[in-house]
Amino acid sequence: MGKDSLDLFGAPKALRAVPVMVPLPVPKPYSYLVPEGVHVEQGSIVQVPLGPRQVFGVVWSDASDDKVDPAKLKQITIVFDCPPLKGDMQQFLDWIASYTLSPPGLVARMALRAPTAFEPEPMVEGLRLTDARPERMTPARTRVIATAEDGPAWTRIGLAHAAGVSASVIDGLTAHGVFEPVFLAPPPVTATPDPDYAQPVLEDIQQDAADQLIASVRAREFNVTLIDGVTGSGKTEVYFEAIAETLRQGKQVLILLPEIALTPAFLERFQNRFGAKPAEWHSDLAPRMREKVWRQVTEGHVHVVAGARSALFLPFENLGLIIVDEEHDPAYKQEDRVFYNARDMAVVRGRIGAFPVVLVSATPSVESRVNADQGRYTKVHLASRFGGAALPDLHLIDMRRFPPARGGFLSPVLIKEIGKTVERGEQALLFLNRRGYAPLTLCRVCGHRFQCPNCSAWLVEHRFRGILQCHHCGHNERSPESCPECGTFDHLASCGPGVERIAEEVEKVFPDKRIIVLSSDMMGGIKRLRLELEAIAKGEADIVIGTQLVAKGHNFPNMTLVGIVDADLGLANGDPRAAERTFQLLSQVTGRAGRSGLKSRGLIQTYQPMHPVMQAIVSGDPEAFYEREIAERERALMPPFGRLASIIVSADSRSDAEGHARGLRQAAPAVSGISVLGPAEAPLALVRGRHRFRLLVHGKRGADMQGFVRAMVENGPKERGSVQVQLDIDPQSFL
Ligand code: ADP
Ligand code: ZN
Repeated sequence: MGKDSLDLFGAPKALRAVPVMVPLPVPKPYSYLVPEGVHVEQGSIVQVPLGPRQVFGVVWSDASDDKVDPAKLKQITIVFDCPPLKGDMQQFLDWIASYTLSPPGLVARMALRAPTAFEPEPMVEGLRLTDARPERMTPARTRVIATAEDGPAWTRIGLAHAAGVSASVIDGLTAHGVFEPVFLAPPPVTATPDPDYAQPVLEDIQQDAADQLIASVRAREFNVTLIDGVTGSGKTEVYFEAIAETLRQGKQVLILLPEIALTPAFLERFQNRFGAKPAEWHSDLAPRMREKVWRQVTEGHVHVVAGARSALFLPFENLGLIIVDEEHDPAYKQEDRVFYNARDMAVVRGRIGAFPVVLVSATPSVESRVNADQGRYTKVHLASRFGGAALPDLHLIDMRRFPPARGGFLSPVLIKEIGKTVERGEQALLFLNRRGYAPLTLCRVCGHRFQCPNCSAWLVEHRFRGILQCHHCGHNERSPESCPECGTFDHLASCGPGVERIAEEVEKVFPDKRIIVLSSDMMGGIKRLRLELEAIAKGEADIVIGTQLVAKGHNFPNMTLVGIVDADLGLANGDPRAAERTFQLLSQVTGRAGRSGLKSRGLIQTYQPMHPVMQAIVSGDPEAFYEREIAERERALMPPFGRLASIIVSADSRSDAEGHARGLRQAAPAVSGISVLGPAEAPLALVRGRHRFRLLVHGKRGADMQGFVRAMVENGPKERGSVQVQLDIDPQSFL
């Protein structure tokens, strides 16, 4: 040991300890020693030993109160050659952990989703033209040299392609010293978008809206704008201007979209405006691409990301704007491990990073509407469709007066209108938010109902595939021929419709029309869905029958009729947002019609035509709906006028789950303004063999819900055996 590594007392000089957050459900960072001569800083991505394993982690901000004896600390094993996570990103992750009551390590993990990208991307081998020329020239060689003169460096294959020769010609030239090897930076996942590539001519009200957004970008500070504009009003066109302005400032942009994997048309539109596609980020991305995007986002080489909610956790180098398109969409809520709403967290991200956030919807969430009405958000309203296109004419079909034929689900009124539409050579869309053929199968002799063995749910018949399937756990069995209870053959009845069954009915009435069924469980996955959606947009189908995935963001120019098969479907459950959700979904779906200016209609089948939601939709006056809904929430102190938190307790046995839930209830502190409902057996009482109980915590606006729930968990019974507790602040689902 050298002299300078000894301190005055002859002991080894102490190494510096730093806190490291590991991507595991841990409550705080652990301390590790920094090896001598190694540089780490806050945000450095490192590898550390943890028990017998090596895990990666992030050097967290200081304030470690770890009182571990330094002699027992282990050393960091690797410091990755990767830009450190920025301070605002850590602040964001810490904020989410404390807001959602999640272990900070699990939240940090969401920002580190591409471990293989911590190492720099390998350089690419390339060739550069030298001054040497071969003695013998051939036409192929001449072409290669002429082509190569056009660029600083080439890959071997790229040059061969560009010059239209085989790679052996290149190799021959390299052997003669005409090319020398060089290393090239890895190619970018997408070209740099140009803010001035193809600026549209905006209509006056669009221009006013764009000007407001541009002003908020120029302010270079945190602000939130809500763009509330009818379907087809040009909201996308308008927020593209905010993106352009941010790019001019040299900053990065994140666009959140609920179904990015299914909307390739969006990427093309972006490309038409900016001359390059945005980078995509979603769970269907190939792993190699994921790494590249993550790495290039953190290095600042990717300028715009269009992604699903998880894109919020990309460690941007210099983020300057977040757009949340379809901000009302329930897909923004994650209900797994860390329960968070990406729309709300986008606003938090903007506040911490001091940049603008733009929320966009034709049917904003009540929460965002209230925030805009109360002046916390700037509101931008686009009241009419672009180019004078009319919104569809909406009508209710009272199913009590115009019932379907026996065994059918479509009213003669709707069938007649479909007929007229397809005769004109236009397209019709039938919407039913139910996959499969029938949601329930029962025996007409003994009344036996086919239920999932693991869940409190009926098995859904999928006739195309010949199976009964549980939509909660995926359990499936072959469609039976006889009743397992009484043994009778041929007396099983399919009850109620799914999209497959509607397709069957439509095929009978319109045997020579081209019919496409679209639902997320179709064979062929995302690829096939994309192709089908493209085919529909090109007019290659007459009648489309689909679940909610047809509702989102698609542009079908020739679609002029939308029929809602069962508008009452979403109203029945005890969800406090049922009315809002139904209103949003039906407005969204009917908004698919008539976008290119053709006269269009929306027909809504309902058994409750007087229901306020139905009335609001056909009245063409969404304001009336919002006013009523907001007043009702205010009276009941429901969000955003009050706060909710759900606690879901599950266990292998019903009594364990119930007992634990009761224990939590008893541990609730006495606080004025906060009360606990339950425990009660969850509407979905059994999922994947686990019994579920729910508690609902309700508080006044401004109540410390997190403190209250934390106290319940800390003072309540410890999680033992199979018991699991999930905390959901601002719940969207009550099942
Ligand atoms: P929204 O997002 O509000 O549903 P979009 O931005 O998709 O509306 O616009 C609807 C359609 O109108 C799109 O096909 C879009 O290209 C077109 N459009 C809107 N504004 C303009 C404009 N100023 N110039 C040209 N086309 C426009
Ligand atoms: Zn199941």
